[in-house]
Amino acid sequence: MKTPPSARETSTVDRQRMDVDIVCVGFGPATAGFLATLSRQLVQADGTPAVESATTPGLPPQVICYERADDIGFGVSGVVTKARALRTTFPDLERAQIPMATPVGEEKVLYLLDPFGASRRSATLRAADILIRTFKWMLPAERDALNLPWTPSFLHKQGGMMLSMGQFMQWVGAQVQSTGAVQIWPGTPVSQVLIEEDKVVGVRLLDQGVDKQGHPADGFTPGMDIRAALTVVGDGPVGSIGQQLNAHFDVPHGHSAHDWAVGMKFVVDLPEDTALKPGTVLHTFGYPEPEIFGFLYVHPGNVASLGIFVPSWFDSPVRTAYRYLQHWMLHPYLWRHLQGAKLRSWGAKTLGESGRRSEPHLVGDGYARIGEGSGSTNVLTGSGVDEAWATGTELAEAVLELLQAKKPFTKKNLEETYVQRRRASWVEPEARAAEKSRDGFQKGMMRGMLGMALAGLTNGRLSLAGDPAPPWKRIPSLEEYYRNRITPEDIARLREECTAKSTSLHGALMEKAGWPAIPYDGKLLVSHQDVLLIGGKVQAPPGYTDHVLFLYPELCEKCGTKICIEACSGQAITPGHDGIPAFDREKCIHCGACYWNCSQPLSYDPERTNIAFRAGTGGLHSAEN
Ligand SMILES: Cc1cc2nc3c(=O)[nH]c(=O)nc-3n(C[C@H](O)[C@H](O)[C@H](O)COP(=O)(O)OP(=O)(O)OC[C@H]3O[C@@H](n4cnc5c(N)ncnc54)[C@H](O)[C@@H]3O)c2cc1C
Ligand code: SF4
Ligand code: SF4
Repeated sequence: MKTPPSARETSTVDRQRMDVDIVCVGFGPATAGFLATLSRQLVQADGTPAVESATTPGLPPQVICYERADDIGFGVSGVVTKARALRTTFPDLERAQIPMATPVGEEKVLYLLDPFGASRRSATLRAADILIRTFKWMLPAERDALNLPWTPSFLHKQGGMMLSMGQFMQWVGAQVQSTGAVQIWPGTPVSQVLIEEDKVVGVRLLDQGVDKQGHPADGFTPGMDIRAALTVVGDGPVGSIGQQLNAHFDVPHGHSAHDWAVGMKFVVDLPEDTALKPGTVLHTFGYPEPEIFGFLYVHPGNVASLGIFVPSWFDSPVRTAYRYLQHWMLHPYLWRHLQGAKLRSWGAKTLGESGRRSEPHLVGDGYARIGEGSGSTNVLTGSGVDEAWATGTELAEAVLELLQAKKPFTKKNLEETYVQRRRASWVEPEARAAEKSRDGFQKGMMRGMLGMALAGLTNGRLSLAGDPAPPWKRIPSLEEYYRNRITPEDIARLREECTAKSTSLHGALMEKAGWPAIPYDGKLLVSHQDVLLIGGKVQAPPGYTDHVLFLYPELCEKCGTKICIEACSGQAITPGHDGIPAFDREKCIHCGACYWNCSQPLSYDPERTNIAFRAGTGGLHSAEN
């Protein structure tokens, strides 16, 4: 067992206790699938319990779900899906009139050339760019973009749905709660999983009325203990409850979560005369850096969701999603559609890209794990919502079977019901096929694309090898990264200037390396500071502890890259005193990027870094993401 660092222990205080039958952590698509399936079958048509609660005899099982974000549908993402599992639960999904939903229409994959010569391209890619530019008259190429004439079927979502997950989750929340069988509590982070003799017995909610370090202050209210026969953990890729379970029970031999990406997304009003039709799906690669993937999905009513993914294998110590997203929007192929567009909302979120390889122990005595935190996301097909939903419905069916048979939620019983269903479903073989599909990216973008194609076309039988290393092993120093572009003396000078201003360094470095300045227009192209105030409000209610912690300040002091500052999606981490970064909870959008980007591993557990990412309140308020 690995020791989780505990900086703010308040375990000795008296806590209220509540007993329920099932407690869920997080309301993302996985838990939504679980609750949507379960809630329909707990009560019979005549209102009597279909199965009886163990804690409140005579009533149906008491099921309660706690979500950290301030409302249902804040803090999730994901918009294009084949919707196989979603339609199994809601066969009339198309007719449900969910705002921003539409069937998938035309799909394109575009290779973006570099119009400014600022990106770091390999010699092969530069040669490819020259060839494309030379023969563009005979290629499907325009405005520095090549429209791939053929893309493999595994990349397509034809027949699927385009959704705003925020809107969809609000709709599902209403469906689930209207059954009366389930309660969902947003704005209520779970701080701890309760484990007694290797059995999970429930969860503890976050203390309120504490200072930023977690010490009791005015109005101190200890978080309640919620005891349950089953704890369902669907807290996503960087959830702290999943982390605690991994620390206590370890992960299966050979499993690890080394591949990540931060996805940043804007929802925009397109110009009124846009040529883009609802349902259009554009996927891009090649620019602003070869490793950065982009997407643009067109919803009805001239609204688009667009964004980029910055993956962990992009070996840059200035992997700033916000700045790169602006350069991506300014690419000539995209800018002709986006010029005149207006930002409605934005957000960022971590994507767990290790998929099946990061699968933890799915069950144990008293608990089960579902969704992306359980390794369900498929990085080959670029699909996470449907898979997360499917694992939730599989657990719900298993739970109903156990409740009906009056069997306890032991590891063995959950394995024979939930895990068995999951292994038998489409999620498993597709996850297996995807397992090694992106290993090629460890050695470069072209190799990665080839590896993906091989794995996709052979159903995972063939792929290109590569050893996924944790991000901290891959991140070079700024001096190495900018070798031949910026001198170490200039880097030192820029660092000094930025530290004096308490700002991140990436903007200054990128401009020095040849990236053009962003022409702010006050509508779509706005400064990072301004975006925190428009397009979704960032909030952090008072009385809660900081959820981002720098565990060992001495590691920060000697850390050269300070990548946590550069990668921060909300400019919530800035240069602080004595080389130790400062964290401002009121700017944090809970993307989790700092947690896996930190460049210093812990000596006693190199799978973990010097940042603890815990449960916290607040974040970005937007229901459109
Ligand atoms: C930018 C972006 C674009 C994407 N696009 C697509 C796409 O087009 N199609 C697709 O299929 N997938 C897409 N995905 C992936 C998809 O969003 C995820 O796979 C999916 O959301 C996973 O669902 P989940 O329920 O497992 O976890 P999550 O969606 O991460 O939900 C977990 C929930 O748990 C809550 N939580 C965490 N910790 C706690 C705690 N301690 N207490 C209480 N609550 C807690 C979180 O706030 C969150 O609401 C995208 C991801 C990103 C980042
Ligand atoms: S948190 Fe990690 S990346 Fe940030 S300064 Fe400390 S050691 Fe460096
Ligand atoms: S501090 Fe908040 S916004 Fe910044 S990287 Fe960490 S989780 Fe994301």
